[in-house]
Amino acid sequence: SKAEGQNRLHIFEPGLLLVRRLRSQLVDDLRAAIKGQGLVLHYQPVVELATGRIEGVEALIRWNHPSRGLIMPDEFIPLAEEAGLISELGFWVLNTAVGQLRDWISDSVVDSRFSVRINISPTDLQSLQFIEDVRAVLTETGVRPEQVVLELTEMAIVKGNDLDRYSLGGLRGLGVGIEIDDFGTGYSSISYLRKLPVDRVKVDRSLIVGLGTDPTQPALVAAVLQLVRACGLEAVWEGVETAVQADHLRNLGCLSAQGYFFSRPLPAEQIPALVAAQSSA
Ligand code: C2E
Ligand code: CA
Ligand code: CA
Ligand code: CA
Repeated sequence: SKAEGQNRLHIFEPGLLLVRRLRSQLVDDLRAAIKGQGLVLHYQPVVELATGRIEGVEALIRWNHPSRGLIMPDEFIPLAEEAGLISELGFWVLNTAVGQLRDWISDSVVDSRFSVRINISPTDLQSLQFIEDVRAVLTETGVRPEQVVLELTEMAIVKGNDLDRYSLGGLRGLGVGIEIDDFGTGYSSISYLRKLPVDRVKVDRSLIVGLGTDPTQPALVAAVLQLVRACGLEAVWEGVETAVQADHLRNLGCLSAQGYFFSRPLPAEQIPALVAAQSSA
C-alpha cells in the first residue's frame, strides 16, 4: 500500500543519510589528515634470505584517526580514490618516505645499498605530474634514485594505457626501481613481463602460503622463480610467516623476502635498532 511505501521511505532514508554523513565526515577527516597530522608510515623490512641482512623497507601507510584510532590502508585507500584525494595522499607518502630515507642515510643508519619501497596507486601512474614529483623529491633530498623502488600492482600496469607506459618509462628514466606488486594474482599474461620497463616482481603471498604443508608448492615456487628470471627479472617473496617457508625459499634459491616471520611493519623509530642488529649479526 501507499502507506507502507511511505513507511519504508521513512525507515530507509535516515539510514542512507547517516551513511552519507559519516562518509563525508570521514572524507573531511582524511583531507585534514593529509594536510596536517594523522597519517603515518610504518616500515617493513625486506630481508636478504642468505644472510638475514635488511636490504630495505617497504613504506606502508596508516591513519591515526582522532576518534576511531588506527585505520589500515585497505579501509581508507579506496575512500581516498573515490574522494579524489589519492594524488595528494601519494604525494605525502612519496615525500615522507624519501625524506625518511634521507634522514637514515645522513644519520648513517643505512648504507647506499638500502632501499625504500613505495606503493604507487594507478592514479599516480596515470599522472605526468607524479614523475615531476619524483624528480623533485630526489633533487631536494639528494637521495640516489636507485635507493627508491616504486611498487605498482600488476593490475594497474596491465589495464593501463599508453600514457601509463610512457609514465613507467619516464619513471625508469629517473633511475628509480620499478617493481610489480602482488605478482601472480591478477592477469597471468607473461608476455608483458618482458616488455615492460620493470626490474623486479614482488610475488603475492598466496603463492607461498602452502610452503611446508602442500607438497606440490615448492615445485610451483621454483617454476615462478624460473619464469621471472627467464624474463630477466628478480623476485621478492612477500608474506613469509614461518621459518619453514623461509627455509624453503632460501633452498629454492630465492634472494629476498618479507613478512611477519622477519618483522611486522614498524614505526620509523624502531628501524635503526633492527638494522644495526642485523648488520652486526
Ligand atoms: P601490499 O602492498 O601488498 O602490502 C603488503 C601487506 O601485507 C601489508 O598490509 C602488510 O602489513 C601485510 N603483510 C606483511 N607481511 C605479512 C605476512 O607475513 N602475513 C600477512 N598475512 N600479511 C603481511 P597493509 O599495511 O595493511 O597494506 C595493505 C595494502 O594497502 C598494501 O598491500 C597496499 O596495496 C596498500 N597500501 C599500503 N600503503 C600504501 C601507500 O602508501 N599508498 C598506496 N597507494 N597504497 C598503500
Ligand atoms: Ca606493496
Ligand atoms: Ca603485495
Ligand atoms: Ca596487496
